[in-house]
Amino acid sequence: MRYLSTRGGVEPLTFTGAVMAGLAADGGLFLPDPVPAVDESTLERWAGLSYPRLAAEVIGMFTDDLDPAVLAGLLDRSYAVFTHPEVTPLVDCGGFHVLELFHGPTLAFKDVALQFLGNLFEHLLERDNGWMNIIGATSGDTGSAAIHGVRGRKGINIFILHPHGRVSPVQALQMTTVTDANVFNIAIRGTFDDGQAIVKAILGDSGFKERYRLGAVNSINWARIVAQVVYYIHAALRLRREQGAQTVDFSVPTGNFGDIFAGYVARMMTGGLIGRLILATNANDILSRFVNQGVYARGTVVQTLSPSMDIQVASNFERYLFYLYGRDPQRVAEAVNRFAAEGSISFSPSERELIKRQFAAASVGEEETLATIRKVHGERGYLLDPHTAVGVAAALRHRRGGVPVVCLATAHPAKFGDAVRKAIGRDPDPPPPLAGLDRLESRCEILPADENEVRRYLAAHALTGREGKGGTGAR
Ligand SMILES: *Cc1c(COP(=O)(O)O)cnc(C)c1O
Repeated sequence: MRYLSTRGGVEPLTFTGAVMAGLAADGGLFLPDPVPAVDESTLERWAGLSYPRLAAEVIGMFTDDLDPAVLAGLLDRSYAVFTHPEVTPLVDCGGFHVLELFHGPTLAFKDVALQFLGNLFEHLLERDNGWMNIIGATSGDTGSAAIHGVRGRKGINIFILHPHGRVSPVQALQMTTVTDANVFNIAIRGTFDDGQAIVKAILGDSGFKERYRLGAVNSINWARIVAQVVYYIHAALRLRREQGAQTVDFSVPTGNFGDIFAGYVARMMTGGLIGRLILATNANDILSRFVNQGVYARGTVVQTLSPSMDIQVASNFERYLFYLYGRDPQRVAEAVNRFAAEGSISFSPSERELIKRQFAAASVGEEETLATIRKVHGERGYLLDPHTAVGVAAALRHRRGGVPVVCLATAHPAKFGDAVRKAIGRDPDPPPPLAGLDRLESRCEILPADENEVRRYLAAHALTGREGKGGTGAR
């Protein structure tokens, strides 16, 4: 299995090479070539497997330089921390199904991938006697899932910047109550954009980056995508087994195009098992406009009730372009440059037709989001978080007779209590991981929004390879 850059400017890498590199040196994203195809007898064999066993089979098709027994062990450990025995259970809401992806430690779907990535990083660093420092800026969900993915791991320190006083109290506590020695929370006196600009500037300094072996954990890492492919196949096989479904549609609350791209890969692997992907956005509609109008054009970001989707440039979109353009990296590079210069990319009539066969899309406003939470709660007694509600609203618009539709539930409603209160007039009950969080010890460094201050802090606390085996992250 070779991993190519979407822009074609680097030598192919192995799976573990692509995972450790994150972004390709030419600025592109790594993709497997070719995407493996799964035949009918394999699907039959997979149909009865538990989540971690299926994950080992699916991910194993993409990892020829990782021992299968080691991979299975990493996956067992990753999903043992989920609080539901099925890991990602499917709930029948009458007319649609909800795939609950929020039973991990931070109650958002990002745990499914970041628990695996944390275990994978630790294993690869241990194997190669390596070490690294992870740095990232967060507006909430990604930072806490990344912290929980690498807490207490050997050979990794993690530094996450969040805007002081500007993330929800729950999100702040989910980060700052992790007091493992290898976790460093930095609250910046500034905005999320200030934090992100500081991280970008530091990662752009190649000398500093090399000295501290800085790595990133955003959704461009291939290991995150491949971990998400698993739950599409798991859910579709379950509906096939239990209801005889020939094909299953999926509705996906979308921001950076990472989650829905995993669905696209699952569809490429399994042919007709997965039908149409319904791309659901909030008012930040760059991707729904892309599907419905055939133009990918930047807009301005507006704040919504589903903040993890308040994005107007989707970093994983480039991966889809690679396949849309018939795996031609030259064309991807041209399109990316055009977008950088002009703020838009347009598509030919035949491309538009292809896009519409693969996706349906809807942009869902605030009122419809709240009404959907209220309606599903009233009619079915099931409480949706605002991100999931966007997906459910889109599914209700686009569902097809005779084809089951699965809505990805990307967060637990208790994580977004304000929106839920607006919809149904009361707070959701806190699940065990959130109850009592405010009574735990917490640790956080408050710094001005100043690159040099952050560099000094990093230099004082980063692993440098001189700690001896295990670094400061040793349990
Ligand atoms: C990150 C996130 C999304 C968007 O996922 P993408 O992979 O960026 O499209 C949706 N919902 C929640 C709750 C998230 O945290």
